[in-house]
Amino acid sequence: MGYEAIYRHSIEQPEAFWAEQARAIHWRTPPKQILDYSRPPFRRWFVGGETNLCHNAVDRHLAARGDQLAIIGVSTETGQTRELTYRDLYREVNTFAAVLQSLDVGKGDRVVIYLPHTVEAAVAMLACARIGAIHSVVFGGFASHNLALRIDDAQPKLLICADAGSRGGKVIPYKPLVDEALELSSAPPPHVLVINRGLDPQSPMTPGRDVDYATASTAHANADVPVQWLESNEPGYILYTSGTTGKPKGVQRDVGGYAVALMLSMKMIYDVGPGQVMFSTSDVGWVVGHSYNVYGPLLAGATTILYEGLPTVPDPGVWWDICARYGVRTMFSSPTAVRALKKFDADYIRRHDLSALQYLFLAGEPLDEPTAQWIQDALGKPVIDNYWQTETGWPVLSLMPGVEMKPTKLGSPGLPTPGYRLRVIDETTGEDAAAHEKGVLVIEPPLPPGCLSTIWGNDERFLAGYFGHFKQPLYSSLDWAIRDEDGYTFILGRSDDVINVAGHRLGTREIEESVSSYGAVAEAAVIGVSDELKGQVPVVFATLRQTGDDAARAEAAKGMRQTVEHNLGAVARPARVYIVNALPKTRSGKLLRRSLQALAQGADPGDLSTLDDPGALEEVKQALARGPDVGG
Ligand code: AMP
Repeated sequence: MGYEAIYRHSIEQPEAFWAEQARAIHWRTPPKQILDYSRPPFRRWFVGGETNLCHNAVDRHLAARGDQLAIIGVSTETGQTRELTYRDLYREVNTFAAVLQSLDVGKGDRVVIYLPHTVEAAVAMLACARIGAIHSVVFGGFASHNLALRIDDAQPKLLICADAGSRGGKVIPYKPLVDEALELSSAPPPHVLVINRGLDPQSPMTPGRDVDYATASTAHANADVPVQWLESNEPGYILYTSGTTGKPKGVQRDVGGYAVALMLSMKMIYDVGPGQVMFSTSDVGWVVGHSYNVYGPLLAGATTILYEGLPTVPDPGVWWDICARYGVRTMFSSPTAVRALKKFDADYIRRHDLSALQYLFLAGEPLDEPTAQWIQDALGKPVIDNYWQTETGWPVLSLMPGVEMKPTKLGSPGLPTPGYRLRVIDETTGEDAAAHEKGVLVIEPPLPPGCLSTIWGNDERFLAGYFGHFKQPLYSSLDWAIRDEDGYTFILGRSDDVINVAGHRLGTREIEESVSSYGAVAEAAVIGVSDELKGQVPVVFATLRQTGDDAARAEAAKGMRQTVEHNLGAVARPARVYIVNALPKTRSGKLLRRSLQALAQGADPGDLSTLDDPGALEEVKQALARGPDVGG
């Protein structure tokens, strides 16, 4: 069947389509009902079916491929490579699961995982899945405030962390950040399980609370922990993502629907099957890491590569060397990473034997044409843009070479993947936009399997945040889009206050709250400004409680930047800070962020009819002309 026939089948007969797809995973008890849509827009897939992600990702492969590599962990930070067969992985996961149980973690308990991108992170996730615990992985680049917010919301029974991570050869102690987050938190877990990598000899341990993994695991070296079967719709994991408020949203994913959707995507989109090798350069802290560094390839019986390190160290050919060494078939990365490599000679790519490599998929942010063209020329392989979100868990738009390779249109992630009923609609009228007309990309519910079930502990936020934008109950992606006459969709950026820095999603409100927590600040506005390398960078406009001279302004600007870095992590560090005497607002007091953003990018500030004080806009223009108080 070609793409059109598959897509049409998925839309016209969703239950028949997904019932067939569900056969790709192992069910302890088969589903009794494929779709329950009695409480729209909530939906439940594969109702009554019992399954387990760890069983499908590990145990299921033991008989046929126990000696095949499952996970390869390559770290150019520690200089170590770990290769685990499916049998090795089974062993490690069972030992880990036994340690979790010894710490009283069981079905439905939340476990926060704060680890670098290592094999241990994948093992920890799978061990949680095995016993029905709900993991919530927090990106290792996030600082204590971010971690504390997530702990408070998830209320975990356990936090798993490492002594330290490492970036560019610099050791980043994790444990002091964890200790600080637990101080800040109102719901600290009773135990912290520490994986000591030997990177930070000073790593602090709190007796009675902190447990050393190496010591705890010796008693469980040969444990076999039975799989906890879960009803398909029970929560598998929570992954926090940024929204329009300062409070992150816990995207809650189910078990059965997720496994089925990932299996479909591995076959039809990424074209990776049993015994083949996939290399996704993302981090376990992000959704791509969950779906295509850990669960997707393992569910498919493939080999996955986890890379810890910079793409340019020891030289900009390091990823391609890994591809050649392990015969990688499908690679998955981000436009930002390619832009970083583009600064170097394409020969760093060409000098490696990439005969096994079939595709490079890129996602997470808009893929600009020069970047796509450069990497396509350097590789001589198809470069495929795919669009999705933390919420969807797997691609919404992509070409599907596992089914049929359609022509690429540069600048577009392509066509809807199976099960997604997409529309582009006018923001104000809610009517369908004509071809080439800008609108908001929406998904007609029921959402397909794999997408979020709800926001953890907050159905209201799920309903209002995603389904409350139009008269009809439509899931809003909050992305602007246009569609051409062939159905190819082009994504034009977010319609809300979320920005995308190097493929990382950040809420401007979170950064504003952090800036405002710096004592000298009266008020702050944070916007995303285009950046050649990172796509967007955060830029701050702030007013001070007390006006001061140049030196005082520079001091305050520096303080704000340090505060954000300390609270939220280096990813959120403002590129530039401008101090002004007033911020442009509407008469009702709303910050005119879009006008600020336009001005900062040298564009027309747009509709200013609601502007309260024209002087504030002048202030901003002057500050931009003068240059930032901190940053280049
Ligand atoms: P995240 O949830 O962190 O994956 O961020 C999702 C957001 O990233 C989307 O809402 C888009 O704004 C953006 N995004 C992801 N993939 C693409 C893509 N292929 N093209 C354009 N924007 C993308």
